[in-house]
Amino acid sequence: KVTEHITNADGKTMFSFEILPPLKGQDIKSIFDNIDPLMEYKPPFIDVTYHREEYTFKELGNGLLKRQVVKKRPGTVGICAAIQNRYQVDAIPHILCGGFTKEDTENFLIDLDFLGIDNVVALRGDAVKSETYFKPEKEGHQYASELVSQIQELNNGKYLDEELQNSSQTNFCVGVAGYPEKHMEAPSLDSDIHFLKKKIKAGAEYIVTQMFFDNEKFFAFVEKCRKEGITVPIIPGLKPIATRKQLNMIPHRFHVDLPDDLIMGIVRCKDNKEVRQVGIEWCTQQSKELIKAGVPILHYYSMGRSSNIEAIAKAVF
Ligand code: FAD
Repeated sequence: KVTEHITNADGKTMFSFEILPPLKGQDIKSIFDNIDPLMEYKPPFIDVTYHREEYTFKELGNGLLKRQVVKKRPGTVGICAAIQNRYQVDAIPHILCGGFTKEDTENFLIDLDFLGIDNVVALRGDAVKSETYFKPEKEGHQYASELVSQIQELNNGKYLDEELQNSSQTNFCVGVAGYPEKHMEAPSLDSDIHFLKKKIKAGAEYIVTQMFFDNEKFFAFVEKCRKEGITVPIIPGLKPIATRKQLNMIPHRFHVDLPDDLIMGIVRCKDNKEVRQVGIEWCTQQSKELIKAGVPILHYYSMGRSSNIEAIAKAVF
């Protein structure tokens, strides 16, 4: 369990990272090639994101449309099982409300349990492209806090089917997302933290944050959480900027601010090789300061570029 790893580390900051399943059509080797060089830094766990199905409609003529499922990155559970088997570290699948009925969720959790996967990060998921706002499945969950509750029910042997009550119990340690710069839909940071607390009350045992580029925002967030009575470990999520394009993409997609010094450092770069170096140096400084502040784990978003993370880990761990 993530919480046990933190306790066993005895105050020493650990290294961990998140990967995306390979794109449909690629093989698992691309993932191993990304993970292999990072194992030297002894991550106690590796997160694997989950990507929801999207639909497109193909015209068949005569006004008929055929619905086609597009899933660019399937395979989260399989990748987790393969990671645990190959590296003997905990793999943590992300699990979503979106696209899942409660029954789907229960079956997903049963699969994980059979595979010896004892940690999950419970998330709502974003709206799909065809929706303006997030819409749950008819028999699904609206908020991550409800998903956390369902996982805890299963941990207590409570299945959806009445007849199965008090059958075998699962033993999941649940993490949830936190947003130092607030979630994009939240009217304020205070209200977002109010609902974050609801996820903890429902049974989540730790928080992983959205990426941020200004440590002060993280420190202020942690302080606010503690004031609200949230006592669980808060793990900072970090991402080194790797391309000039990300200067626009990251604030747009993740709703986070980039500090002016970082922006101008990147704007002045000749090419992406220089941008990569600026991104690594910025993230290395952030990491060193966070270690000094005593964070339990530094969690890196690799987004398919492990060589950047490796350079930071080498400088920091
Ligand atoms: P929630 O905690 O449900 O919150 C969503 C919004 O609703 C917030 O604004 C919150 O303030 C508000 N809210 C919560 N409860 C209530 C309530 N009872 N009443 C009113 N408002 C409420 N997405 C993926 O698709 N796959 C992934 O693998 C993935 N991994 C992620 C990992 C991390 C660490 C993070 C930070 C995000 C990840 N995401 C992933 C993105 C995430 O799914 C989105 O940010 C999503 O929009 C919100 O998810 P959540 O779990 O934070 O939602």
